[in-house]
Amino acid sequence: MVRKTESLLKLVNEAVSVVVDAGYTGHQQTFRKTLAKYCDSVKMVEGDVVVPVKTASTRAEPYARTIRPKLLNKLDNFLETVPEIPVKQSSTDLDIEGLRYETFEHLLKDFGSIEFVEPVKDVVGGEDEAHKRLETFVGERLDRYAAERSDPGSEACSELSPYLRYGMISPVQVLKRVFEYRRRGDVNVESLINELVVWRELARNGEVYNPFFEKYEGLPEWARETLSIHAGDRREQVYSMSELERADTHDVYWNAAQQELLATGKIHNYMRMYWCKKLLEWTDSPETAYRYAVYLNNKYGLDAEDPNSYLGISWCFGAYDRPFTESKIYGKVRRMTDQSLKRKKQINNYIQRWSAPAGI
Ligand SMILES: Cc1cc2nc3c(=O)[nH]c(=O)nc-3n(C[C@H](O)[C@H](O)[C@H](O)COP(=O)(O)OP(=O)(O)OC[C@H]3O[C@@H](n4cnc5c(N)ncnc54)[C@H](O)[C@@H]3O)c2cc1C
Repeated sequence: MVRKTESLLKLVNEAVSVVVDAGYTGHQQTFRKTLAKYCDSVKMVEGDVVVPVKTASTRAEPYARTIRPKLLNKLDNFLETVPEIPVKQSSTDLDIEGLRYETFEHLLKDFGSIEFVEPVKDVVGGEDEAHKRLETFVGERLDRYAAERSDPGSEACSELSPYLRYGMISPVQVLKRVFEYRRRGDVNVESLINELVVWRELARNGEVYNPFFEKYEGLPEWARETLSIHAGDRREQVYSMSELERADTHDVYWNAAQQELLATGKIHNYMRMYWCKKLLEWTDSPETAYRYAVYLNNKYGLDAEDPNSYLGISWCFGAYDRPFTESKIYGKVRRMTDQSLKRKKQINNYIQRWSAPAGI
C-alpha cells in the first residue's frame, strides 16, 4: 500500500490541478483532506447530489421534513447536465510506475487482508446498464411507484442504487429523464423526488455536518438513552454473525431479505428496514446490533458503503424518526413486526423468489 500511495503522490505533485468527485463518506472526506496537503489545487465536483450539500443547508438537519423545503426550493436551479467532453488521455490507459498490474487477481492481492465476497450473478455494472434500468423504470414502473414502492414483491422501484452509488448515473440524469415522461406534481414523480433527492441528500447532509454520522454515537440522545434502558431486556433468540450471514434464522421474512442481499447486493427498501430492526431483537446489545447491521450491509451491499447505508441503519435505531410508545428491547424506537409484512399484497412473491438459498 505504501508503494501505491507514493506512486499516487508523485503523480499529484506533478499535476497542475487535481479534480475529484465529492464523495461524502468519512473515508472519502479523509482522502480529499490528505490529497489537499500534497497538491496546490484540488477541485471538487458535487455530481452525486442535485443540490450541493452546503447550498442546501448550513446545519445538520434532524428530519426529512426540515431539509425537504430547502431542497425543493432550489431543485430547479440544479437540473442542468454538463456536456460531455471527450478526454484526450483515458486514465485506464495510463502506465504508472508502482501501479502496474498484470491481472485483476494481482491487484486484489495488493489490498492485503480485505475480505472479499463472491461476485453476484446476473448483475451487470456500467453506465449503459444504468441507463437501461432507468428506461425500464420510466417505461414500466414509474406509474406504479407511489402506490407500490413499499410492497416488496411488486417490483415498482428503479433498482438504481448500486449505479448511483458508483456514479454510473447521476440523480440529475435520472430526474431529467423522468421529467420527459411525467411532470412535477405527478404523485409518482413527487414520491421519487422524496426518495432520490430528500432522503438521499439528507444522508449527505448527515455525513457533512454530523461528525459521528457513521457511528452508534451519532444517534440522537433520546434514542441512545431509551435503547440503553432496554439493553437488559430478555432476547427470545440471539443469533451469531455466521448464522445471520447464512440467512439461518427462524424468520422466513428475514431469511428472504438476507438471501436477496447475497444474491443481488441489495435489499428492497421496506424489507431492509425490517431486516435491520430485527437485529436489535437478536443480538445482545443495541451497539452489537448496529455493528452487525453495518458489517452485513457494507460487506454484501453493492450499493454500500454509501451515506445511505448509515442513514438507513441509523433510522432503524431512531435517527430522523420520532419516539413511539415504549416497547420491549426497542424502548421508544419504532418497532417493526411481520404483521406489517403480512399485509403487503405481493409479499408471497417476494418470499417465493428469495426463499431458495443463494449460498455464501
Ligand atoms: C437498513 C438500511 C440500509 C440501507 N443501506 C443502503 C445502502 O447501503 N445504499 C443505498 O443506496 N441505500 C440504502 N438504503 C436505502 C434504500 O433501502 C435503498 O436506497 C433502496 O432500497 C434502493 O433501491 P432502489 O434503487 O430500487 O430505490 P428507489 O425506490 O427506486 O429510489 C431511487 C433512489 O433513491 C434513493 N433512495 C431510495 N430510498 C432511499 C432511502 N430510504 N434513503 C436514502 N436514499 C434512498 C436511492 O439512491 C435509490 O436508488 C438502506 C435502507 C435501510 C433501511
